[in-house]
Amino acid sequence: MLNVCDINVMKPLLMQHGFHFSKAKGQNFLIAGWVPESIAEQAGVDETAGVLEIGPGIGPLTQQLALRAKKVCAVELDTRLEPILQQTVGEFGNLEILWGDVLKQDIPALVKEKFPGLRPMACANLPYYITSPILSALLEAECFESVTVMVQKEVAQRIAAAPGTADYSAFTVFCQYYAQPELLFDVPAHCFMPQPKVTSAVITLRVRKQRPWNVDDEKIFFRTVRASFAMRRKKLANGLASGFPELGKQGAADVLAACGFDENVRGETLGIPEFATVANEIARRIRRD
Ligand code: SAM
Repeated sequence: MLNVCDINVMKPLLMQHGFHFSKAKGQNFLIAGWVPESIAEQAGVDETAGVLEIGPGIGPLTQQLALRAKKVCAVELDTRLEPILQQTVGEFGNLEILWGDVLKQDIPALVKEKFPGLRPMACANLPYYITSPILSALLEAECFESVTVMVQKEVAQRIAAAPGTADYSAFTVFCQYYAQPELLFDVPAHCFMPQPKVTSAVITLRVRKQRPWNVDDEKIFFRTVRASFAMRRKKLANGLASGFPELGKQGAADVLAACGFDENVRGETLGIPEFATVANEIARRIRRD
């Protein structure tokens, strides 16, 4: 197996194929072998797993996944990588590469077709320019046991943040609605070529089998969350009034009172169960009107 993280292997390989990194495609390739090994290991990939990888690049993580999993499907946008991947991961019979944009895939259908009887997982060193849309698509697909990804450290902290902290955001609530996050480890910029300007981190999201709260209407729940963070320095009542014009100012205040919250409460202090309570009350009032 070619050690693609060794720059003495990687550089001649890229040169041989006339490959130049594309900033627009978020190409920062790993040059520290411990990173893909740790991702595959800590994601719990084994012979019972079917793994969807996003953006294999020249294959450092792909190799580690294919060594452990029953089946790996890797989706790559940049077809210039095809002859290189042929050389670096062509030997794996349990690997299938799909060429195209991961955001255009029907992920639940793909998982159903490719991983029957296996534990479906997603693993990736994500292209940073589309971290949030990819993570949203993976979680909304509701078909993975876990999602383990490398992202910018600041994004990882946002995903794992607790209510009331500066990092807590609508994206935190979105991710934690679907999954329980755990920060695994940091990856310094010198582990990549070219080096990004920021530190990265690997985070695993264990998808919830059951959600410990009751949400009557998911659309209204996520609307409530967005409205609550849209004016995060302001009172929740004001955020709700502008996010739900049909409620009006008084209606928004009544919702909070009916849920037992102080009229001055700020949205950023609410946990998911509290957002669910508020959203359910809004749903009840909107439907009644
Ligand atoms: N996995 C490799 C590694 O760790 O060295 C490469 C990671 S690099 C950060 C991101 C990879 O995602 C690149 O290979 C890039 O071409 C690919 N990519 C970018 N946008 C994509 C998209 N929309 N769908 C699938 N792959 C994409």
